Amino acid sequence: FGSATHRPMGKVIAIANQKGGVGKTTTTINLAASLAALEFQTLIVDADPQANSTSGLGYNPKEIENSIYECMVEGVRPQDAIIQTDFPNLDLLPSHIDLVGAEIEMINLQNREDKMKTTLDSIRDDYDFIIIDCSPSLGLITINSLTAADSVIIPVQCEYFALEGLGKLLNTIKIIQSRLNTHLAIEGILLTMYDLRVRLSNQVVGEVTSHFQQMVFSTIIPRNIRLSESPSFGVPALAQDADSKGAVSYLNLAREILIKNGMMPQEA
Ligand code: ADP
Ligand code: MG
Repeated sequence: FGSATHRPMGKVIAIANQKGGVGKTTTTINLAASLAALEFQTLIVDADPQANSTSGLGYNPKEIENSIYECMVEGVRPQDAIIQTDFPNLDLLPSHIDLVGAEIEMINLQNREDKMKTTLDSIRDDYDFIIIDCSPSLGLITINSLTAADSVIIPVQCEYFALEGLGKLLNTIKIIQSRLNTHLAIEGILLTMYDLRVRLSNQVVGEVTSHFQQMVFSTIIPRNIRLSESPSFGVPALAQDADSKGAVSYLNLAREILIKNGMMPQEA
């Protein structure tokens, strides 16, 4: 497997679902950390004004000077906003809390859907993967993220109303594919917070799999305490407890994505 010296430009993956609390941020941090642990240069872009990816990696959003928004709206170079994290191969383009208004500011800009893409195009060559943590809305910043992305991962929580809002999201993706980003692909639907002991969890897995079939990742993310508590330590679960079920499941997801993208040989 000798292609490591000639890698393509970084693949941009948006983690999106306009529903809150489905595992977007958890997936962003832990998938990115897993790709980084497998020695792929990885950048997290925190595109949510709530800045949970930024704080979950140990940075106080109130102390961030240059965020993704300054890059998109004020033309700050992403190189001047990116933070090298303590985790090898993992960088962060942070968000900050006060910029909920950025979305409104952007409405008056020309090419307002293209700002994220323009920002990321200038640094794509520096990374193997760029993972965008989207906000829980289908507003302009999420449209920007989907316009910049090569593919999208849709986390779906194994809970009541799991499929709620999915139709609207898939429709938004279709509109973006037809108007703004013809090569946007769906990387996969990711089932999250699965609880073996809860019958409902199994029902959701059955329902989502029969509905979406091969679009659903074979890796399922279990409900796991390490995944919910590691952000309070400012680290990915992998750094806190590499053997935890949560950390292992995101490593498996990373491998599944690498194999699917021909970046890792299929294991026997
Ligand atoms: P979103 O970014 O979609 O709003 P989060 O990733 O922030 O969702 O997850 C919502 C809440 O659920 C957070 O408190 C997070 O710590 C917790 N959580 C997410 N995934 C898991 C999991 N697999 N196991 C346990 N807790 C989880
Ligand atoms: Mg989030």
